[in-house]
Amino acid sequence: MSGIRRVSILGSTGSIGRNTLDIILRHPGSFEVAALASGSDWETIVSQAKIFKPAFVAIHKEESASRARDLLKGSDIGVLAGIDGILEAASTDRADIVVSSIVGAAGIMPTYTAVAAGKIVALANKEALVAAGRIIIEEAKRTGASIIPVDSEHSAVFQTLMGQDRSAVRKVILTASGGPFFGKDKDFLTGVTPEMALNHPRWKMGPKVTVDSATMMNKGLEVIEASWIFDLPAEEIEVLIHPQSIVHSMVEYVDGSVLAQMGITDMRIPIAFALSYPDRLDLTLDPLDLVAVGRLDFHKPDLEKFPCLALAFDALERGNGIPAVMNAANEIAVESFLSGDLPFTGIADVVRAVMDDPPDFDNQTLSGILRGDQLTRKAARAVIGLHGET
Ligand code: MG
Repeated sequence: MSGIRRVSILGSTGSIGRNTLDIILRHPGSFEVAALASGSDWETIVSQAKIFKPAFVAIHKEESASRARDLLKGSDIGVLAGIDGILEAASTDRADIVVSSIVGAAGIMPTYTAVAAGKIVALANKEALVAAGRIIIEEAKRTGASIIPVDSEHSAVFQTLMGQDRSAVRKVILTASGGPFFGKDKDFLTGVTPEMALNHPRWKMGPKVTVDSATMMNKGLEVIEASWIFDLPAEEIEVLIHPQSIVHSMVEYVDGSVLAQMGITDMRIPIAFALSYPDRLDLTLDPLDLVAVGRLDFHKPDLEKFPCLALAFDALERGNGIPAVMNAANEIAVESFLSGDLPFTGIADVVRAVMDDPPDFDNQTLSGILRGDQLTRKAARAVIGLHGET
């Protein structure tokens, strides 16, 4: 890789953020950390700041920012607080690449801000494109920002599209591990506890993404995300369960060729590719041992047992803000499941109920969508409240 790339990491204390810093640590001549941003975890961000020496850190929660300020007193590292601090980390002139890895709807505004600032955006947050895909893609066209996916499936599609004629694409096949409950029956799913859902067989991720992956809503969000990143209609995106998680996704071309990207399940591979694109870094990870893997299985997803995936296809087809509604309702439902207030199978029920009776909002502007997000959260909480009473 030629030249040093300056990186700002939004969500540096989460799973993607830590892996990004691990890659940067192993390639000191290639990257510099310009800024780090997190929600409230001041202890982790301070220790990261001491190692990577960014110009500043930004912490959303004010009290956490003041704790960090005390600890970084006397250093050259600035500490910013609140949403303004996060947005400064998203748009600072000091960064060439912004890693957008804040989880959930909280990542929508920072992602938009990085795109509006014309950055190379290494995109891990799914919700920004799910909720505001059209607005963000149009803004990227206007500013010349490039969006390089970090999600393993989208990175795979991105890589298998490189150097190809886009008009020769017949469809994209996103693979899904199936999560911990693949093949289980409905009765089993009703009794799933948060502890069971948080135990993912293949990938180590944060709690929200892990639960989404158990319900397959994660794949649903990825379908919508793929439709925006690769400009594809719903009918050109297929999902296949692939329990070994070796094939990270595929592209089928009109001549019948299917190109796949394969690798071990280590998020550092797609993160590193987004950081170094179009070059590749030598990551010195364990090589993929296909003989040890032995076989690659593929299955059709069961939409009856995992209705969240069907809901996502429905939201994509309906458009007009419905994906934003689906996403916000899902965030509340997942929260309620994790706190023990909703059964596992209730997650899809809540999302469906809110999508059937969505709140009214302007889905053509970012502020309208953020308002829709808030209204949907209220509606989802009301649905869950009713659940407990009846
Ligand atoms: Mg993924």
